Amino acid sequence: MTGQEGPASHAYEVLAVRYGTWHTDKRKAYHSFEVYGEENEPLRIDYFFWVLRNALRTVVVDTGFRPEVAERRGRELLTPVPEALRRAGVDPDAVGHVVLTHFHYDHIGNVDLFPRAQLVAGGREYRFWTGETARQPLFSTAVEAAEVDAVRRAEAEHRLTLVPERDPGIPGVVFHEVPGHTPGQLVVEVGTAGRPVLLASDASHLYEEFEKERPFHIASSLPDMYEGLRWLRGRGRDAVVVPGHDARVLERFPVDAAGTVVRIA
Ligand SMILES: [Zn+2]
Repeated sequence: MTGQEGPASHAYEVLAVRYGTWHTDKRKAYHSFEVYGEENEPLRIDYFFWVLRNALRTVVVDTGFRPEVAERRGRELLTPVPEALRRAGVDPDAVGHVVLTHFHYDHIGNVDLFPRAQLVAGGREYRFWTGETARQPLFSTAVEAAEVDAVRRAEAEHRLTLVPERDPGIPGVVFHEVPGHTPGQLVVEVGTAGRPVLLASDASHLYEEFEKERPFHIASSLPDMYEGLRWLRGRGRDAVVVPGHDARVLERFPVDAAGTVVRIA
């Protein structure tokens, strides 16, 4: 903390920005859904990135998927990310930091929109996706090689800060490594004027995931994932936990008329 930045100036407004959607069902979304003995149900998965903003800085958390990738993968792009940023009042050139919670295609697709920003990612996440095991199809199908290369280029240009090894210098924001969905998934804890906000990203795609401790079907480690879900459930007592893909985020918080910008705090 510096002399100019008292704790009050660290209180962020937090927006969830919905840019895409996909209709699936619980049997496909959850790992081994049949073990719960429940009827299958349709499920809408929404795609978000998040904006943290105060008087001193704007931080963008994740950068969404690109139109051509959405089309190839059968996901519906509701609002291209540059337009979604405009609706949230974000000028990409004014963004100091871009946080990448993990390297899946729906989270790091538009890094090139922010050529001046410092990127922040998990050290374990970066080393995994630039390493040998990530080439196995079980992992490689969830990422776009060109997008991982863009992060690698940022590292070569000294524009990437890996946490927790190094401090990215964003007062009021704490990064938690919560592996299980991917090896170095980050949860972003944000100080606000009220309770802290925990952006779970894909440590918990859905409310039901952490509330009932039910793993999602894409897992790098189930024991780690269970630990992460239990931790998130516990944090739900003192913080506002925001899952990464739940359509109910639009019901629980105020949203604009277009259904794009959701005010979390
Ligand atoms: Zn995701």
